[in-house]
Formats: sequence, structure tokens, C-alpha cells
Amino acid sequence: MEVQALQQYLQIPRKVVIIPHVKPDADALGSCLAWKIYLQKKGHIATVISPSEYPAFLKWMPQADSVLDLEFHPQTLIVETLQQAELLCFLDFNGINRMEQLSKLVSALTCKKMVADHHIGKEDNFDFEFWYVEAAATCEIIYDLIIALRDEHLIDTSIGECLYAGIMTDTGSFKYATTTSKIHRIVANLIEKGVNTEKIHRNIFDNNSLEKLKFLGYALHTKLVVNVPKQYAYFYITRQELLDFHTQVGDTEGLVNYALSIKGVSVAALFKEDKDGSIKISLRSIGDINVRNLSAKYFNGGGHKNAAGGKVEGKTLDEVRFLFENVVSEFVNP
Ligand code: 5GP
Ligand code: MN
Repeated sequence: MEVQALQQYLQIPRKVVIIPHVKPDADALGSCLAWKIYLQKKGHIATVISPSEYPAFLKWMPQADSVLDLEFHPQTLIVETLQQAELLCFLDFNGINRMEQLSKLVSALTCKKMVADHHIGKEDNFDFEFWYVEAAATCEIIYDLIIALRDEHLIDTSIGECLYAGIMTDTGSFKYATTTSKIHRIVANLIEKGVNTEKIHRNIFDNNSLEKLKFLGYALHTKLVVNVPKQYAYFYITRQELLDFHTQVGDTEGLVNYALSIKGVSVAALFKEDKDGSIKISLRSIGDINVRNLSAKYFNGGGHKNAAGGKVEGKTLDEVRFLFENVVSEFVNP
């Protein structure tokens, strides 16, 4: 890892703003908070600004309550913090447009910029780049970065908990092919630094509201389309259904995996109507089926080979799901 330039830059105390992608997951928020706590230990002033709210099941993360999010904090405070920043760090994404409303505020800034990410297809250039598509998680990259900066001794329980959460979720609890022996060694090290893995697993996966489970039951019973000959399955969820079941941010996370778990299914999707009427798409696949390419071609999106997402504006939920039905074979049997 090429860290000299960054190391040099961080030799004097800096004002740093750290940004995850919109609707941050455990890897995005965990890498941001771990990096923030590390920078603070080094004497820098670091703030995490999120383009949108993060899910309630991440509120336990160390310093999660210090995150400024554009949906709930005064824009003046966010603009002021951004204007004072000497370094912006983009974590777990690599294209300015993945910050949605925040993109407008950020694109005018001329300060130094850093990226740490593992998504395919880097969209912009940055002063400091830590972009490794083979990494299992951005949290793995942040771990490697702290080691390369020769600061392993600064990884404490707080940093470790944030990093573990991102690695655990982005590897599908250590089941995806990205789970290398190196990942297990990193995790072993984090456990030795005091991380309580059982507590983190419970906080993230056994923290369901009854509403979320009832919604899951409804979605499985009524909103799941399965086509085994064509190897696909998907959920389609309207805004009204999300409101009727009193779902919260993050409550549909993991839903798509139920579709992928069906015998004979190799590609799974979730189509969901968002607040603004756009359709948010989540895609999952197994083996060589490249849903990142499917998402980039048809759904303005991106991500990884086996886990990708996108967003479509100006089309109805039905139009988007029927489009998927029509084009999915292109990627199942290329
Ligand atoms: P999820 O389905 O969990 O929202 O996202 C799956 C993966 O695809 C994640 O790695 C996420 O960062 C990426 N992803 C989700 N939505 C988008 C999108 O709209 N654009 C791009 N480029 N990537 C996305
Ligand atoms: Mn990630």
C-alpha cells in the first residue's frame, strides 16, 4: 500500500471530513467511524458527514451519535464544516454522485481528497487513492491503511468494533468468496484487541422490530416473484407498503438474500419505491453472474460482481421489474 504521500500530509494536525455513501451500511459507517477515531488519536479534527440517515441497528457504533447527517442536521452547520475541511475522505464509494444531495455541496470544494473503496469501476480521481476491488470490505482497507501507517498499536476496541462490523456484514458473516485467510487473521487480531464479536452480531442481526418481521412475512408471502427456469427471483415493494408496515430505514436490508436463497435461483433483486418516487434496486447473484454490469447497463448503478445496486427515476415500479424480467437472461446466460 502506497501511503507515503498521505503520511506526509497528515504530519501536521488537519481538519478532516469523512463521508460514507448515501444510506450507509455497516461497512460504510464502520470504516468512517474507525478512520475518524484513528485520526482523532493522531491529533486531527475529524467529522463524519453522512448524505442520509443511517439505520438504527448501527447506532451502537462508537461515536455514531457524532455523525452529522444531511437529512436531520442544519445545512448551515454542514456547509460550514465542509468549508473548513482541509481533507475530504470518501469511504466505501468512489463516485461523487453517490452522495446525492451532498454531492452539490462537495463538488465545489477544492481541498485535498482521499478515497478508500472496493467497488468496481472508479468514477473520479482523488489526491490519495486506496482503491482495491479485491478487498472484502472498505473496513479491510482502513485496517491495512492504519497498519501501513505503522499505527497498529492505535487500533483499540472502539476502532476494532467498527472495523469488525463492516467486515462481518460485507462478507455475509464470513461466507462469501471474499473471505480469505487474511480476513480471518485480521479478525483474530481485532478479537485480541478486545472486540466482542458476539455482541456486534447480536446488535446487527438480532435487533429486529416486530414491524420489520411482520413486513418480512408479508413480503415473502405476497411480494416475491420466482422464475426457476430463468433462475431469478425478486421482491417488489411500494412506498405505501413500507408506510403501512411502519418500516424504518434499513428494514429492507437483507430481504434480497431470501430471494437468492431459493433453490435454483442464481440472481435475486429487490425493487423498492423510494420517498421521492424513484425506484431503488438491490441485486445479488452467485458465481459468474455479474450483477454489477446488469446494474450499470440498465439501472444507473454499480457495485460488485455479486452484489450491486442502482436507482431509476421516471419509471414505475412495474416498468422497472418488467425491464429486469426482460433483460436478466443476458447476464444469466451471456
Ligand atoms: P445494496 O443492495 O446493499 O444497497 O448495495 C449492494 C452494493 O451495490 C453495495 O456495495 C453498494 O455500495 C452498491 N450500490 C448500491 N446502490 C448503488 C448505486 O445506486 N450506484 C452504485 N454505483 N452502487 C450502488
Ligand atoms: Mn463495502
